Amino acid sequence: MLPPLHSGTRSRQVGKERANALWNRNIVGQSGVVRMFRGTSLQAPITWCLCFKPKPKPKTNTTNMLPPLHSGTRSRQGYSTTVTNAMALVFEVLGRFNRARAARLTLPHHVCQTPLFMPVGTQGTIKGLTNSQLEDIGCQIILGNTYHLALRPTSELLDEVGGLHNFMNWQRGLLTDSGGFQMVSLLHLADITEKGVTFQSPVDGKPMLLTPEESIQIQNRIGADIIMALDDVVKTTITGPRVEEAMYRTLRWIDRCIAAHKRPHDQNLFGIVQGGLDPILRDICAKGLVDRNLPGYAIGGLSGGEDKNSFWRVVAQCTAALPEDKPRYVMGVGYPLDIVVCSALGADMYDCVYPTRTARFGTALIPEGVLKLKHKAMAEDTRPIDPTCPCMVCKNYTRAYIHCLVTKDAMGSQLLSYHNLYYMLQLSRNLHSSIVEGRFPEFVCDFLHKMVCSRKSPGP
Ligand SMILES: [Zn+2]
Repeated sequence: MLPPLHSGTRSRQVGKERANALWNRNIVGQSGVVRMFRGTSLQAPITWCLCFKPKPKPKTNTTNMLPPLHSGTRSRQGYSTTVTNAMALVFEVLGRFNRARAARLTLPHHVCQTPLFMPVGTQGTIKGLTNSQLEDIGCQIILGNTYHLALRPTSELLDEVGGLHNFMNWQRGLLTDSGGFQMVSLLHLADITEKGVTFQSPVDGKPMLLTPEESIQIQNRIGADIIMALDDVVKTTITGPRVEEAMYRTLRWIDRCIAAHKRPHDQNLFGIVQGGLDPILRDICAKGLVDRNLPGYAIGGLSGGEDKNSFWRVVAQCTAALPEDKPRYVMGVGYPLDIVVCSALGADMYDCVYPTRTARFGTALIPEGVLKLKHKAMAEDTRPIDPTCPCMVCKNYTRAYIHCLVTKDAMGSQLLSYHNLYYMLQLSRNLHSSIVEGRFPEFVCDFLHKMVCSRKSPGP
Protein backbone atom coordinates (compact mmCIF):
# COMPACT_ATOMS: atom_id res chain seq x y z
CA MET A 1 0.00 0.00 0.00
CA LEU A 2 2.80 2.37 0.93
CA PRO A 3 5.86 2.88 -1.24
CA PRO A 4 9.18 1.72 0.15
CA LEU A 5 10.68 3.95 2.79
CA HIS A 6 14.01 5.67 2.45
CA SER A 7 16.08 5.31 5.55
CA GLY A 8 19.31 6.92 4.45
CA THR A 9 21.02 9.74 6.28
CA ARG A 10 19.90 12.31 3.76
CA SER A 11 16.26 11.27 4.11
CA ARG A 12 16.42 11.50 7.87
CA GLN A 13 17.99 14.91 7.63
CA VAL A 14 15.33 16.07 5.19
CA GLY A 15 12.66 14.69 7.52
CA LYS A 16 14.11 16.53 10.47
CA GLU A 17 14.35 19.80 8.59
CA ARG A 18 10.82 19.49 7.33
CA ALA A 19 9.54 18.55 10.76
CA ASN A 20 11.27 21.59 12.21
CA ALA A 21 9.86 23.80 9.48
CA LEU A 22 6.40 22.39 10.10
CA TRP A 23 6.74 22.85 13.77
CA ASN A 24 8.09 26.35 13.66
CA ARG A 25 5.44 27.56 11.26
CA ASN A 26 2.61 25.23 12.29
CA ILE A 27 0.57 26.30 9.31
CA VAL A 28 0.28 23.11 7.32
CA GLY A 29 -2.95 21.11 7.12
CA GLN A 30 -3.19 17.31 7.17
CA SER A 31 -2.62 16.68 3.51
CA GLY A 32 0.20 19.21 3.56
CA VAL A 33 1.82 17.39 6.45
CA VAL A 34 1.74 14.13 4.55
CA ARG A 35 3.19 15.75 1.42
CA MET A 36 6.00 17.33 3.40
CA PHE A 37 7.10 14.01 4.85
CA ARG A 38 6.97 12.09 1.56
CA GLY A 39 10.13 10.09 1.07
CA THR A 40 11.25 10.34 4.70
CA SER A 41 11.22 7.92 7.62
CA LEU A 42 8.22 9.82 8.97
CA GLN A 43 6.06 9.11 5.96
CA ALA A 44 4.64 5.75 7.06
CA PRO A 45 3.55 6.67 10.60
CA ILE A 46 2.23 10.05 9.47
CA THR A 47 0.24 8.43 6.70
CA TRP A 48 -1.18 5.72 8.93
CA CYS A 49 -2.05 8.28 11.61
CA LEU A 50 -3.72 10.99 9.56
CA CYS A 51 -5.03 9.57 6.31
CA PHE A 52 -7.65 7.04 7.27
CA LYS A 53 -11.14 8.48 6.98
CA PRO A 54 -14.00 6.64 8.62
CA LYS A 55 -15.69 4.51 6.01
CA PRO A 56 -18.84 2.45 5.81
CA LYS A 57 -18.44 -1.25 6.26
CA PRO A 58 -17.92 -3.14 3.00
CA LYS A 59 -21.01 -5.07 2.01
CA THR A 60 -19.36 -8.41 1.35
CA ASN A 61 -21.07 -11.69 1.91
CA THR A 62 -18.83 -13.66 4.27
CA THR A 63 -20.31 -17.03 3.50
CA ASN A 64 -19.33 -16.69 -0.16
CA MET A 65 -15.73 -16.07 0.80
CA LEU A 66 -15.28 -19.12 2.99
CA PRO A 67 -12.52 -21.35 1.69
CA PRO A 68 -12.64 -25.05 2.48
CA LEU A 69 -11.85 -26.07 6.04
CA HIS A 70 -8.77 -28.19 6.71
CA SER A 71 -10.11 -30.03 9.72
CA GLY A 72 -11.82 -32.74 7.75
CA THR A 73 -15.24 -31.24 8.29
CA ARG A 74 -17.03 -28.60 6.32
CA SER A 75 -19.05 -27.59 9.33
CA ARG A 76 -19.60 -23.87 9.56
CA GLN A 77 -21.21 -24.06 12.93
CA GLY A 78 -22.29 -20.80 14.43
CA TYR A 79 -21.96 -18.63 11.34
CA SER A 80 -25.63 -17.90 11.01
CA THR A 81 -26.54 -16.80 14.52
CA THR A 82 -26.65 -13.30 15.94
CA VAL A 83 -26.51 -13.68 19.70
CA THR A 84 -27.62 -11.11 22.24
CA ASN A 85 -25.29 -11.43 25.19
CA ALA A 86 -25.45 -9.69 28.53
CA MET A 87 -22.88 -6.94 28.91
CA ALA A 88 -21.26 -5.44 31.94
CA LEU A 89 -19.82 -2.33 30.32
CA VAL A 90 -20.87 0.95 28.75
CA PHE A 91 -18.77 2.45 25.97
CA GLU A 92 -19.44 6.10 25.14
CA VAL A 93 -17.45 7.90 22.44
CA LEU A 94 -16.66 11.44 23.59
CA GLY A 95 -14.64 12.67 20.61
CA ARG A 96 -13.28 11.61 17.22
CA PHE A 97 -10.67 12.48 14.66
CA ASN A 98 -11.06 10.42 11.49
CA ARG A 99 -10.98 6.90 12.90
CA ALA A 100 -9.40 7.80 16.25
CA ARG A 101 -11.82 7.98 19.14
CA ALA A 102 -11.70 9.02 22.77
CA ALA A 103 -14.25 7.26 24.94
CA ARG A 104 -15.52 6.64 28.44
CA LEU A 105 -15.49 2.94 29.27
CA THR A 106 -17.58 2.11 32.35
CA LEU A 107 -16.64 -1.24 33.86
CA PRO A 108 -18.05 -2.87 37.01
CA HIS A 109 -15.09 -1.65 39.09
CA HIS A 110 -13.94 1.53 37.33
CA VAL A 111 -14.84 4.25 34.88
CA CYS A 112 -11.96 4.43 32.37
CA GLN A 113 -10.90 6.83 29.67
CA THR A 114 -9.67 5.50 26.33
CA PRO A 115 -7.28 5.19 24.63
CA LEU A 116 -5.82 3.37 27.63
CA PHE A 117 -2.72 1.37 28.42
CA MET A 118 -2.92 -1.57 30.83
CA PRO A 119 0.20 -2.56 32.77
CA VAL A 120 0.76 -6.31 33.05
CA GLY A 121 0.69 -7.68 36.60
CA THR A 122 1.71 -11.29 36.22
CA GLN A 123 0.60 -12.61 39.63
CA GLY A 124 -1.60 -9.83 40.94
CA THR A 125 1.21 -7.31 41.22
CA ILE A 126 3.13 -4.89 39.05
CA LYS A 127 6.69 -5.71 40.09
CA GLY A 128 7.95 -3.17 42.64
CA LEU A 129 4.94 -0.87 42.65
CA THR A 130 2.27 -0.57 45.34
CA ASN A 131 -1.42 -0.19 44.55
CA SER A 132 -1.44 3.39 45.81
CA GLN A 133 1.47 4.21 43.49
CA LEU A 134 -0.46 2.69 40.59
CA GLU A 135 -3.47 4.83 41.50
CA ASP A 136 -1.24 7.91 41.80
CA ILE A 137 0.04 7.50 38.25
CA GLY A 138 -3.48 6.99 36.91
CA CYS A 139 -3.54 3.24 36.22
CA GLN A 140 -7.09 2.28 35.26
CA ILE A 141 -6.91 -1.44 34.48
CA ILE A 142 -4.30 -4.05 35.43
CA LEU A 143 -3.86 -7.19 33.35
CA GLY A 144 -3.53 -10.47 35.25
CA ASN A 145 -2.07 -13.61 33.69
CA THR A 146 -4.58 -16.43 34.15
CA TYR A 147 -1.95 -19.12 33.70
CA HIS A 148 0.25 -17.76 36.51
CA LEU A 149 -2.71 -17.00 38.81
CA ALA A 150 -4.13 -20.50 38.29
CA LEU A 151 -0.81 -22.00 39.39
CA ARG A 152 -0.35 -19.62 42.31
CA PRO A 153 -2.32 -18.71 44.41
CA THR A 154 -4.84 -20.87 42.39
CA SER A 155 -8.25 -19.84 41.12
CA GLU A 156 -9.97 -21.81 43.92
CA LEU A 157 -8.30 -19.66 46.58
CA LEU A 158 -9.11 -16.49 44.64
CA ASP A 159 -12.73 -17.60 44.45
CA GLU A 160 -12.78 -18.20 48.22
CA VAL A 161 -11.54 -14.70 49.03
CA GLY A 162 -13.99 -13.02 46.66
CA GLY A 163 -11.79 -12.72 43.58
CA LEU A 164 -8.54 -11.06 42.59
CA HIS A 165 -9.83 -7.54 43.36
CA ASN A 166 -10.14 -8.48 47.03
CA PHE A 167 -7.01 -10.63 47.11
CA MET A 168 -4.74 -7.85 45.86
CA ASN A 169 -6.85 -5.02 47.33
CA TRP A 170 -7.22 -3.33 43.93
CA GLN A 171 -10.53 -1.55 43.48
CA ARG A 172 -10.13 -0.43 39.86
CA GLY A 173 -10.37 -2.42 36.64
CA LEU A 174 -8.88 -5.87 36.04
CA LEU A 175 -8.52 -7.90 32.85
CA THR A 176 -7.39 -11.50 32.63
CA ASP A 177 -6.06 -13.28 29.56
CA SER A 178 -7.19 -16.79 28.68
CA GLY A 179 -4.01 -18.51 29.80
CA GLY A 180 -3.49 -20.18 26.45
CA PHE A 181 -0.91 -17.78 25.09
CA GLN A 182 1.23 -18.13 28.21
CA MET A 183 1.21 -21.89 27.88
CA VAL A 184 2.11 -21.92 24.24
CA SER A 185 4.83 -19.31 24.64
CA LEU A 186 6.33 -20.52 27.95
CA LEU A 187 6.05 -24.27 27.72
CA HIS A 188 7.92 -26.20 25.09
CA LEU A 189 5.60 -29.15 25.31
CA ALA A 190 2.36 -27.27 24.75
CA ASP A 191 0.22 -28.52 21.90
CA ILE A 192 -3.11 -27.37 20.52
CA THR A 193 -5.89 -29.75 19.56
CA GLU A 194 -9.62 -29.22 18.99
CA LYS A 195 -10.24 -29.96 22.68
CA GLY A 196 -7.89 -27.28 23.95
CA VAL A 197 -4.26 -26.57 24.82
CA THR A 198 -2.43 -29.60 26.18
CA PHE A 199 0.72 -29.01 28.18
CA GLN A 200 2.99 -30.55 30.76
CA SER A 201 2.29 -29.22 34.23
CA PRO A 202 5.27 -27.23 35.52
CA VAL A 203 4.28 -28.39 39.05
CA ASP A 204 4.35 -32.17 38.70
CA GLY A 205 5.13 -32.79 35.03
CA LYS A 206 1.78 -34.47 34.33
CA PRO A 207 0.01 -33.78 31.04
CA MET A 208 -2.79 -31.25 31.46
CA LEU A 209 -5.44 -29.79 29.20
CA LEU A 210 -6.77 -26.24 29.17
CA THR A 211 -10.11 -26.19 27.36
CA PRO A 212 -12.14 -23.09 26.46
CA GLU A 213 -14.58 -24.10 29.21
CA GLU A 214 -11.82 -24.37 31.84
CA SER A 215 -10.25 -21.09 30.83
CA ILE A 216 -13.58 -19.31 31.32
CA GLN A 217 -14.28 -21.16 34.58
CA ILE A 218 -10.91 -20.07 35.99
CA GLN A 219 -11.47 -16.50 34.82
CA ASN A 220 -14.96 -16.50 36.37
CA ARG A 221 -13.34 -17.43 39.68
CA ILE A 222 -10.69 -14.73 39.36
CA GLY A 223 -13.47 -12.22 38.72
CA ALA A 224 -11.84 -9.60 36.44
CA ASP A 225 -13.99 -6.94 34.75
CA ILE A 226 -12.86 -8.17 31.33
CA ILE A 227 -12.06 -11.80 30.48
CA MET A 228 -10.61 -13.13 27.25
CA ALA A 229 -11.77 -16.04 25.12
CA LEU A 230 -9.32 -18.92 24.65
CA ASP A 231 -8.00 -18.61 21.10
CA ASP A 232 -5.65 -20.54 18.86
CA VAL A 233 -2.69 -18.22 18.35
CA VAL A 234 -0.09 -18.57 15.63
CA LYS A 235 2.76 -16.21 14.94
CA THR A 236 2.28 -13.77 12.09
CA THR A 237 5.47 -15.05 10.53
CA ILE A 238 3.80 -18.46 9.98
CA THR A 239 1.93 -18.88 6.71
CA GLY A 240 -0.13 -21.61 5.08
CA PRO A 241 -3.01 -23.78 6.27
CA ARG A 242 -2.08 -23.57 9.96
CA VAL A 243 -3.17 -19.90 10.03
CA GLU A 244 -6.55 -20.79 8.55
CA GLU A 245 -6.98 -23.74 10.91
CA ALA A 246 -6.22 -21.52 13.93
CA MET A 247 -8.67 -18.84 12.80
CA TYR A 248 -11.55 -21.29 12.35
CA ARG A 249 -10.71 -23.00 15.63
CA THR A 250 -10.78 -19.61 17.38
CA LEU A 251 -14.29 -19.10 15.98
CA ARG A 252 -15.42 -22.55 17.10
CA TRP A 253 -13.98 -22.01 20.57
CA ILE A 254 -15.74 -18.66 21.07
CA ASP A 255 -19.08 -20.48 21.20
CA ARG A 256 -17.74 -22.85 23.84
CA CYS A 257 -16.46 -19.83 25.80
CA ILE A 258 -19.83 -18.06 25.58
CA ALA A 259 -21.65 -21.21 26.70
CA ALA A 260 -19.28 -21.69 29.66
CA HIS A 261 -19.43 -18.05 30.83
CA LYS A 262 -21.34 -17.97 34.11
CA ARG A 263 -20.98 -14.28 35.00
CA PRO A 264 -21.95 -12.26 31.90
CA HIS A 265 -23.68 -9.64 34.05
CA ASP A 266 -20.50 -8.60 35.88
CA GLN A 267 -17.69 -9.87 33.62
CA ASN A 268 -17.21 -8.92 29.96
CA LEU A 269 -16.07 -11.67 27.59
CA PHE A 270 -13.96 -10.31 24.70
CA GLY A 271 -13.46 -12.33 21.53
CA ILE A 272 -10.11 -12.23 19.70
CA VAL A 273 -9.75 -11.66 15.96
CA GLN A 274 -7.13 -14.02 14.52
CA GLY A 275 -6.08 -14.77 10.94
CA GLY A 276 -2.43 -13.79 10.76
CA LEU A 277 -1.61 -11.32 8.00
CA ASP A 278 -4.27 -12.72 5.65
CA PRO A 279 -6.97 -10.07 5.09
CA ILE A 280 -9.58 -12.63 4.05
CA LEU A 281 -9.07 -14.72 7.17
CA ARG A 282 -9.09 -11.61 9.38
CA ASP A 283 -12.32 -10.51 7.75
CA ILE A 284 -14.03 -13.86 8.27
CA CYS A 285 -12.92 -13.96 11.90
CA ALA A 286 -14.00 -10.38 12.66
CA LYS A 287 -17.42 -10.92 11.10
CA GLY A 288 -17.86 -14.23 12.90
CA LEU A 289 -17.11 -12.60 16.24
CA VAL A 290 -19.27 -9.54 15.56
CA ASP A 291 -22.17 -11.92 14.87
CA ARG A 292 -21.80 -13.11 18.48
CA ASN A 293 -22.45 -9.56 19.73
CA LEU A 294 -19.75 -9.62 22.38
CA PRO A 295 -19.11 -6.74 24.85
CA GLY A 296 -15.72 -6.03 23.26
CA TYR A 297 -13.21 -7.32 20.73
CA ALA A 298 -9.47 -7.84 20.67
CA ILE A 299 -7.08 -7.97 17.74
CA GLY A 300 -4.70 -10.81 18.49
CA GLY A 301 -1.63 -12.49 17.09
CA LEU A 302 0.29 -9.31 16.28
CA SER A 303 3.69 -8.07 17.45
CA GLY A 304 5.09 -11.44 16.45
CA GLY A 305 7.88 -10.29 14.17
CA GLU A 306 5.87 -8.88 11.25
CA ASP A 307 6.95 -5.58 9.68
CA LYS A 308 5.32 -2.36 10.83
CA ASN A 309 3.25 -1.71 7.74
CA SER A 310 1.79 -5.24 7.83
CA PHE A 311 1.01 -4.80 11.52
CA TRP A 312 -0.70 -1.44 11.05
CA ARG A 313 -2.56 -2.72 7.97
CA VAL A 314 -4.11 -5.58 9.98
CA VAL A 315 -5.08 -3.20 12.79
CA ALA A 316 -6.64 -0.79 10.26
CA GLN A 317 -8.59 -3.62 8.66
CA CYS A 318 -9.83 -5.09 11.95
CA THR A 319 -10.85 -1.78 13.54
CA ALA A 320 -12.86 -0.98 10.41
CA ALA A 321 -14.63 -4.33 10.64
CA LEU A 322 -15.46 -4.10 14.37
CA PRO A 323 -18.48 -2.24 15.79
CA GLU A 324 -18.25 1.48 16.54
CA ASP A 325 -19.95 1.11 19.90
CA LYS A 326 -17.66 -1.52 21.43
CA PRO A 327 -14.10 -1.28 22.79
CA ARG A 328 -11.26 -2.58 20.59
CA TYR A 329 -8.18 -3.99 22.27
CA VAL A 330 -4.88 -4.61 20.46
CA MET A 331 -3.16 -7.35 22.47
CA GLY A 332 0.51 -7.27 23.40
CA VAL A 333 1.10 -3.74 22.11
CA GLY A 334 3.25 -1.99 22.78
CA TYR A 335 5.76 0.53 21.93
CA PRO A 336 4.67 4.15 22.31
CA LEU A 337 4.74 4.67 18.52
CA ASP A 338 2.48 1.66 17.98
CA ILE A 339 -0.02 2.95 20.53
CA VAL A 340 -0.22 6.32 18.78
CA VAL A 341 -0.66 4.77 15.32
CA CYS A 342 -3.14 2.12 16.49
CA SER A 343 -5.18 4.81 18.31
CA ALA A 344 -5.26 6.82 15.09
CA LEU A 345 -6.60 3.70 13.40
CA GLY A 346 -9.45 3.36 15.90
CA ALA A 347 -8.10 1.05 18.62
CA ASP A 348 -8.81 1.81 22.28
CA MET A 349 -6.89 -0.53 24.60
CA TYR A 350 -3.37 -1.91 24.86
CA ASP A 351 -1.22 -4.03 27.15
CA CYS A 352 2.46 -4.82 27.12
CA VAL A 353 5.24 -5.90 29.46
CA TYR A 354 7.64 -3.62 27.59
CA PRO A 355 7.62 -0.55 29.92
CA THR A 356 8.33 -2.59 33.07
CA ARG A 357 10.58 -5.18 31.42
CA THR A 358 12.78 -2.54 29.82
CA ALA A 359 12.92 -0.74 33.19
CA ARG A 360 14.47 -3.84 34.73
CA PHE A 361 17.20 -3.59 32.12
CA GLY A 362 17.88 0.02 33.04
CA THR A 363 16.05 1.74 30.18
CA ALA A 364 13.72 4.72 30.59
CA LEU A 365 11.06 5.86 28.10
CA ILE A 366 11.31 9.52 27.15
CA PRO A 367 9.66 11.64 24.44
CA GLU A 368 12.79 11.29 22.26
CA GLY A 369 12.78 7.48 22.52
CA VAL A 370 14.77 5.74 25.24
CA LEU A 371 17.43 6.65 27.78
CA LYS A 372 19.84 3.93 28.90
CA LEU A 373 20.60 4.64 32.56
CA LYS A 374 23.37 2.03 32.68
CA HIS A 375 25.45 4.03 30.24
CA LYS A 376 28.55 5.60 31.78
CA ALA A 377 27.47 9.01 30.44
CA MET A 378 24.73 8.94 33.10
CA ALA A 379 27.19 8.63 36.01
CA GLU A 380 27.56 12.39 36.47
CA ASP A 381 24.32 13.57 34.87
CA THR A 382 22.39 15.47 37.53
CA ARG A 383 19.30 16.07 35.39
CA PRO A 384 16.08 14.07 35.94
CA ILE A 385 15.33 11.19 33.55
CA ASP A 386 13.04 13.51 31.57
CA PRO A 387 13.09 17.21 32.54
CA THR A 388 9.59 17.61 31.06
CA CYS A 389 8.08 14.73 33.10
CA PRO A 390 6.13 15.68 36.25
CA CYS A 391 6.27 12.18 37.80
CA MET A 392 7.51 11.52 41.35
CA VAL A 393 10.78 9.98 40.10
CA CYS A 394 11.66 12.85 37.79
CA LYS A 395 10.81 15.37 40.52
CA ASN A 396 13.03 13.71 43.14
CA TYR A 397 15.90 11.77 41.56
CA THR A 398 18.76 12.38 39.15
CA ARG A 399 20.02 10.21 36.31
CA ALA A 400 23.27 9.83 38.24
CA TYR A 401 21.45 8.42 41.29
CA ILE A 402 19.45 5.93 39.23
CA HIS A 403 22.65 5.01 37.32
CA CYS A 404 24.17 3.99 40.69
CA LEU A 405 21.19 1.82 41.60
CA VAL A 406 20.27 0.28 38.31
CA THR A 407 20.94 -3.48 38.04
CA LYS A 408 22.49 -3.39 41.55
CA ASP A 409 19.49 -2.57 43.71
CA ALA A 410 15.78 -3.34 43.26
CA MET A 411 15.10 0.32 43.93
CA GLY A 412 16.62 1.20 40.54
CA SER A 413 14.18 -0.88 38.51
CA GLN A 414 11.29 0.20 40.75
CA LEU A 415 11.97 3.87 40.07
CA LEU A 416 12.34 3.22 36.35
CA SER A 417 9.14 1.11 36.27
CA TYR A 418 7.30 3.94 38.00
CA HIS A 419 8.53 6.51 35.49
CA ASN A 420 7.96 4.25 32.46
CA LEU A 421 4.39 3.42 33.46
CA TYR A 422 3.75 7.08 34.17
CA TYR A 423 5.01 7.82 30.65
CA MET A 424 2.65 5.23 29.08
CA LEU A 425 -0.36 6.37 31.11
CA GLN A 426 0.37 10.02 30.38
CA LEU A 427 0.62 9.13 26.68
CA SER A 428 -2.86 7.54 26.96
CA ARG A 429 -4.24 10.65 28.67
CA ASN A 430 -2.67 12.92 26.05
CA LEU A 431 -4.20 10.85 23.25
CA HIS A 432 -7.61 11.09 24.93
CA SER A 433 -7.48 14.83 25.56
CA SER A 434 -6.04 15.68 22.12
CA ILE A 435 -8.90 13.81 20.40
CA VAL A 436 -11.56 15.34 22.65
CA GLU A 437 -10.11 18.84 22.21
CA GLY A 438 -9.79 18.53 18.42
CA ARG A 439 -5.99 18.77 18.22
CA PHE A 440 -5.07 15.15 17.43
CA PRO A 441 -3.08 15.93 14.22
CA GLU A 442 -0.93 18.44 16.12
CA PHE A 443 -0.37 15.90 18.88
CA VAL A 444 0.68 13.23 16.36
CA CYS A 445 3.10 15.59 14.58
CA ASP A 446 4.64 16.70 17.87
CA PHE A 447 4.97 13.10 19.10
CA LEU A 448 6.54 11.84 15.86
CA HIS A 449 8.81 14.84 15.56
CA LYS A 450 10.33 14.13 18.97
CA MET A 451 10.27 10.35 18.72
CA VAL A 452 11.28 9.56 15.16
CA CYS A 453 13.65 12.43 14.40
CA SER A 454 15.79 11.61 17.43
CA ARG A 455 16.65 8.18 15.93
CA LYS A 456 16.46 6.65 19.42
CA SER A 457 13.00 5.22 18.99
CA PRO A 458 12.52 1.72 20.44
CA GLY A 459 10.94 -0.98 18.39
CA PRO A 460 10.49 0.37 14.87
ZN1 LIG B 1 9.19 10.75 35.08
